[in-house]
Amino acid sequence: MGKSLFHKVWDAHSVRTLPNGQTQLFVALHLIHEVTSPQAFGMLRQLDLSVPVPERTFATVDHIIPTDTRQRPFQDALAEEMMVALKENCERYGITLFDTSSGKQGIVHVIGPEQGLTQPGITIACGDSHTSTHGAFGAIAFGIGTSQVRDVLATQTLSMDKLKVRRINVEGRLGPGVYAKDVILHIIRTLGVNGGVGYAYEYGGSAIAAMSMEERMTVCNMSIEGGARCGYVNPDDTTFAYLRGRPYVPKGDAWEEALARWRAAGSDADAAYDDVVDIRADDVPPTLTWGINPGQAISIDQRVPTVEGSPPEQRASIAEALEYMKLEPGAPIKGTPVDVTFIGSCTNARLSDFREVASHVRGRRVAPGVKALVVPGSQLVDQAARAEGLDEVFRQAGFEWREAGCSMCLAMNPDKLIGDQLCASSSNRNFKGRQGSPSGRTVLMSPVMVAAAAIAGRIADAREVFGIASRPD
Ligand code: SF4
Repeated sequence: MGKSLFHKVWDAHSVRTLPNGQTQLFVALHLIHEVTSPQAFGMLRQLDLSVPVPERTFATVDHIIPTDTRQRPFQDALAEEMMVALKENCERYGITLFDTSSGKQGIVHVIGPEQGLTQPGITIACGDSHTSTHGAFGAIAFGIGTSQVRDVLATQTLSMDKLKVRRINVEGRLGPGVYAKDVILHIIRTLGVNGGVGYAYEYGGSAIAAMSMEERMTVCNMSIEGGARCGYVNPDDTTFAYLRGRPYVPKGDAWEEALARWRAAGSDADAAYDDVVDIRADDVPPTLTWGINPGQAISIDQRVPTVEGSPPEQRASIAEALEYMKLEPGAPIKGTPVDVTFIGSCTNARLSDFREVASHVRGRRVAPGVKALVVPGSQLVDQAARAEGLDEVFRQAGFEWREAGCSMCLAMNPDKLIGDQLCASSSNRNFKGRQGSPSGRTVLMSPVMVAAAAIAGRIADAREVFGIASRPD
């Protein structure tokens, strides 16, 4: 039997087996940001440790940065303190920092691929759950905690348990108005939020092969929401075309060598998997969450579940979610009024997301009373979108176009829900209080569905709002 990409990359980066049975794994790329690194650097100082391989760590600022103004000092003293600490730590240890003055700042999972740091066949670690995003390039990318950030800074390695591998085949063609976000929400809904525990997810099949790199990033981004420790797509010509010419990608002869290495990193045709799941692309509907985890999802045509109509083992969690979300059991999700709409986050804040949404909102208006935010994932996305006039399209439609950052995905910055506002969001988590208000309500969906909600003032079927009847080839 051949090997999967996961096992090839794992074996190539394995330093040794530790006495506790874990593997000490070399980390080829370490990405850091302002929230989970200060304590890690503090521990290094306490232990009088250095960063022996600073050229493999790159930093950006994303979680705390305001998106309405970049004026310093930030109004939030803690945010200012984190920003200052990150800069000082990067200078002290010789780490490259993409701050706002670089023109390359952005969400850590947007800037890695954008700079060509994220490459096939490598291990990547970052102190953020959604590091799985980078798996879109055929990397094995893990989110890690603060003490592990310290470990990677000090040793460039990580101790980890080996995972099983589940191959998820998505075959066929997605329907009109169905996007990569719907695919991953559908997968999580089907397999459950804990279905991937102990697994790496390998996504494949003709529908995944047909996706752009940005779409693949959307899918891999939410692997962690399905319980998988990481998710990846085997690298192919789409991957290589995206990477060619990016700043940190090898050039000249080194490019040809890298290509050969990257091609060899992919799963063998006869690779063995611990589990295989088949999904038909034409079974994937426009999908959105109704509850308080990403698996509590339905199609836009469905009704909010009832406690009594649900399987006994799910009744307690469904009752809890219904109470928190203040949705009427058994009522259609379509038509639920929205207060806020958010297009952004490391799941869906890339240029192709904005191009697609702008093509639908051009000439339309956000419904009265709805606060509608559009937040680019990076300064480079912002610049590219502005160059195409997309920011103006959004502004003219009544959306606010903001500066790059995590914004309302986690609301560790001034972009927060108020009270029990309901937000149609293109982000990745709908946990209680996720968007900054302890009673704020989040409904996850694709960016085009978010835009449809903004225009309609309520949760709506984007295919109806925008007349999407066919899918471009
Ligand atoms: S956008 Fe959200 S999920 Fe992504 S890195 Fe920022 S806070 Fe984390």
